[in-house]
Amino acid sequence: MVKRENFFRFESRTFALSFVLMTFVQNIVSLFLGGEKCLCCSRRTLRIPLCKSCLPKLDSLGFKETCSVCGRELISEIGICSHCRENPALQSLDGAFSLHCYQLWKKSLLFAWKLEDKRSLSPYFAALFHRKLKSLEKETGLALAVVPVPPRKGKIRERGWDQIDELCFYLRKGWNVKILPLLERLTHTQQKKLDRIQRIEGISSSYRLRKEKWLRRKFPHLPEAVVLADDVLTTGSTIEACARELKKLGIKRVFSITLFIVD
Ligand SMILES: [Zn+2]
Ligand SMILES: [Zn+2]
Repeated sequence: MVKRENFFRFESRTFALSFVLMTFVQNIVSLFLGGEKCLCCSRRTLRIPLCKSCLPKLDSLGFKETCSVCGRELISEIGICSHCRENPALQSLDGAFSLHCYQLWKKSLLFAWKLEDKRSLSPYFAALFHRKLKSLEKETGLALAVVPVPPRKGKIRERGWDQIDELCFYLRKGWNVKILPLLERLTHTQQKKLDRIQRIEGISSSYRLRKEKWLRRKFPHLPEAVVLADDVLTTGSTIEACARELKKLGIKRVFSITLFIVD
């Protein structure tokens, strides 16, 4: 278990300092506004909706054995879970990892972050993501850049932020992680047009690589391996669609880290 203060060992000192100042101001504002309530035990808290005693619970995944394909918890299965045996959706991916199961108070946590704009949770999620990224780098011996799963077009303009974009902001600023925005999400019209062609080919996707000319100019040297970042893994179709696109670019190994996985 990790103590609250150890969550933020940012590598960048300047960023760490600005973070301390920012949280100080946010704590004061939160105090005047009445604070938050811990989503796990209902105790009153400041700024983030998790209290000091419940926060360390975020650090432990709680899975003993996980599926080697999708990262779900294995309950009496060996090696590969029944989901992946019955419906092998993740074919382009070289490994999926999730940090938490999507159950009980953790469900409320994702809801609070994503739909109630509790952005104070972002650096905590980024810290957990970063820790998993480092352990994956150690395990594979590869330097891993992060590719964000892109938001719906216009989301940042409408809502003011996107959770994966913010996660990547902390990864880049706090730990100097290389972020490669290689993918884009299709609009409904683009998707409809493509669907007709893709239906004939038997595939459909809402994601595609950004324009090749732009990609080659912006990222002349692409890494051998990347990690897709998303908040929740459900059927795996989003991650699979993104991984399939990335492999078209010649990236040899594509992993994914999601914060939550739905059983
Ligand atoms: Zn609590
Ligand atoms: Zn599985």
